[in-house]
Amino acid sequence: MAKTGDICTFCGRGSRDVNMLINGISGAICDICAVQAYEIVMEQGAQSKNPFGLNQKELPKPEDIKKFLDQYVIGQDDAKRYLSVAVYNHYKRLLQKVTSDDVEIEKSNIIMVGATGTGKTLLARTIARLLRVPFAIVDATVLTEAGYVGEDIESILTRLLQAADYHVDMAQRGIVFIDEIDKIARKSDNPSITRDVSGEGVQQGLLKLLEGSIVNVPPQGGRKHPEQKMIAVDTKNILFICGGAFDGIEKKIAQRLNTRVVGYVAGKEKNLLDRDNMLKYITPTDLKSYGLIPEIIGRLPILTYLSPLDRNTLRNILTEPKNSIVKQYLKLFEMDGIKLLFDEDVYEFIVDKALEFKLGARGLRSIVEAIMMDAMYSMPSENEKKLQVTLAYAKEKFDKSDTNRLQIA
Ligand code: ADP
Repeated sequence: MAKTGDICTFCGRGSRDVNMLINGISGAICDICAVQAYEIVMEQGAQSKNPFGLNQKELPKPEDIKKFLDQYVIGQDDAKRYLSVAVYNHYKRLLQKVTSDDVEIEKSNIIMVGATGTGKTLLARTIARLLRVPFAIVDATVLTEAGYVGEDIESILTRLLQAADYHVDMAQRGIVFIDEIDKIARKSDNPSITRDVSGEGVQQGLLKLLEGSIVNVPPQGGRKHPEQKMIAVDTKNILFICGGAFDGIEKKIAQRLNTRVVGYVAGKEKNLLDRDNMLKYITPTDLKSYGLIPEIIGRLPILTYLSPLDRNTLRNILTEPKNSIVKQYLKLFEMDGIKLLFDEDVYEFIVDKALEFKLGARGLRSIVEAIMMDAMYSMPSENEKKLQVTLAYAKEKFDKSDTNRLQIA
């Protein structure tokens, strides 16, 4: 009989059959078993880890979540409140230990309606930052039904897997932001006169993900690697946040409201309507008349809206968020030992230009960039340690820049 030290206690291979045999007090392990053991430990570790390292008591409450969002996103209070509650419930759902007689908490996927550049992606991103869960952004416009040119619906989950470093368990608790969901709306309210490849088929495909099912995901995405081994991903606990501008939906809302208010209260209700922000009154019915199929709407039970950004909000976006554009520039200059100062009226000028060129919040950055370009180029090699950006300076630099390039920002 072989002595301890001659064979691996785990697999029984002899010392001659393996590269290495590590001896313990009452046994030995070969290199092959050691590697396998390591992999098991890592896998189990990843699985058993609470995704947030939290228990119910430590969960951030909706008010805490909103406060966190406030640090990064200006305004949009309604959307923040809805998101905070939805995320809180999502946490609770994940922590719930389901026993047979328990009430199963259903998933609350979210749909946010609001003009482009009002902060939909930013909100979703900020939520993911708070939760420290894998987060993926996908654009619904590139999705097509299997067999058509474009990306398969499953590619959404490929992104999430990649964001989770291929830890399936983590990905299964992640958040997916599907942007431009309005672009896959059915073109007419009348179902299926002709097959609508780009719209309804994709919606049907999405449904499968939203309602929770096990989906085979190509880890590399795309159709270029037919040989790749699929990974099964359960979407039951993935939180889906959809966003879309739904251009023109205000008209549908107005129509609905007008038809409803015929009658003796008509005058009164009409006067109370906030005509500049009709999205406030959005209901699932409006999404249906816009061309989302009822099954999809049913799987996105939390419906909220984002308000258009007014002057004041744009002004605050420049300086208030924790990583505001202005703070980022101050930091960039500070790293070269330069103190950067902006006169107050420069901010007003930047907002004016963003409004004039209809660039929204996205344009703020490119305007600041245009103003600061010269200084960022030359100051690092000069001795000057301070730059006071005055209105005259800002105007001069901005007028010199190529404003056409602002449009694509
Ligand atoms: P959307 O997804 O609605 O098209 P984004 O969230 O991508 O818009 O916003 C574009 C950029 O504009 C963001 O990166 C952010 O810098 C800025 N922004 C938009 N809305 C806000 C807001 N409410 N608060 C702070 N920054 C905002």
